[in-house]
Amino acid sequence: MHSGKSVSVHFSPADADTGIVFHLLADGGVTEIRALHSEVGSTDLSTVLGDPAGAHVATVEHLMATLFGLGIDNVAIEIDGSEVPILDGSAALFVDAFEHAGIERLAARRRYIRVLKPVRIEAGGSWAEFRPHDGTRFEVEIDFDSPAIGRQSLAIELDPERFRDVARARTFGFMKDVERLWAAGFALGSSLENSVVIGDDHRIINMEGLRWPDEFVRHKTLDAMGDLALAGARFIGCFRSYRGGHKLNAAALRRLLADSSAYQIVDTSRRERSRAAEVSAVAGPLHAPSVR
Ligand SMILES: [Zn+2]
Repeated sequence: MHSGKSVSVHFSPADADTGIVFHLLADGGVTEIRALHSEVGSTDLSTVLGDPAGAHVATVEHLMATLFGLGIDNVAIEIDGSEVPILDGSAALFVDAFEHAGIERLAARRRYIRVLKPVRIEAGGSWAEFRPHDGTRFEVEIDFDSPAIGRQSLAIELDPERFRDVARARTFGFMKDVERLWAAGFALGSSLENSVVIGDDHRIINMEGLRWPDEFVRHKTLDAMGDLALAGARFIGCFRSYRGGHKLNAAALRRLLADSSAYQIVDTSRRERSRAAEVSAVAGPLHAPSVR
């Protein structure tokens, strides 16, 4: 998307408790970067893991959202460039690839971050918050001046089936911003093949139009899933945001994890099969998600 360079990505199975680890191949060496919030180096145009001036991997959000949405906790990702390919601007091709390869259930118990009390962050006219909730829920609202988007909201209780409702939603942008980014040397791979573009006349430039009338808020929800997937464990709670983005998502996650009274690490072996499955507190350090 931003470098305009071609890149190969190879996914390999990983053992329980490995987490999601990028292996960056460059100059004959390999740099490992864990997909954790503590590794976020920038959220300016996309979510970047690592040092933006050194070894890093950019635009991880749609891939991370796919892993979160499909319930994949452990995978090794080999990549020979510094940016995850944008593909068609959505998570659709990642979903197809993982479903084609198959997903194996491991014997280990999955750990969760259970939200115990509301945690909120505000910035300008935007806000984001976590609230206690029995399940993993997203309530995302956007509000753009452009009548092409306007005000849209989406509430989704996450499971692999519902994930399809957001997985195919594409990245979007305004023509005037794309031109500015091009001039600054960014968005070099951006095109109508991988972005919904809104023209100066507030019309959608893409010939094929939108995949859903509310594709924009669906995509923002996908982005939020990808950013929160960097917690190191999935959360049990409701994430809500208004006019959010990568920066606000990352800040909300940092604030939640900085307050040890706001969450608890729990695990359960059969959560997916039964919502009523008991969730037990895990003995151990509360900062566990950030060191996995
Ligand atoms: Zn996105």
